[in-house]
Amino acid sequence: MKPDMPKTETAAATAAAAPRPRPSKPVPSPSDANRPFWAGCAAGELRLKCCKACGRHQAPTRAACHCGGLAFDWVTVSGKATLFSYTVLHRAPDPAFKDDLPYVVAIVEFEQGGRLMSNLVGCAPEAVHCGMALEAVFETVAEGIGLPKFRPA
Ligand SMILES: [Zn+2]
Repeated sequence: MKPDMPKTETAAATAAAAPRPRPSKPVPSPSDANRPFWAGCAAGELRLKCCKACGRHQAPTRAACHCGGLAFDWVTVSGKATLFSYTVLHRAPDPAFKDDLPYVVAIVEFEQGGRLMSNLVGCAPEAVHCGMALEAVFETVAEGIGLPKFRPA
């Protein structure tokens, strides 16, 4: 290289200087089996499966009722629940969740029955306790996709 030629950055130097793209969180992909649940979340309401054989409410993830029933109606419920169990995460399972630390992963039990894994929001992790009263809130994360989360009622 001649001494009077302009210096150019190498690709590696450019990549090192550029800010890293922020990792993105996974977004649910509704299927035929759970589309009513996700449509409800997008509309700001909670919908659960209700077994046609015994009337028991189910989380949207269950393929079969405890009674063995395989036919369900989708019903809109209040979103009122209690905290069944939880854990506080201090290490992110994925870099996309690092800014949320610490956060609470919870299993909530609906007043109608049925449980769902979700997150608690609006509550310091040290104030969380099993049995606390909760209500559903919905966080829009993509076009037409809302995530059900729970806050103290
Ligand atoms: Zn049943």
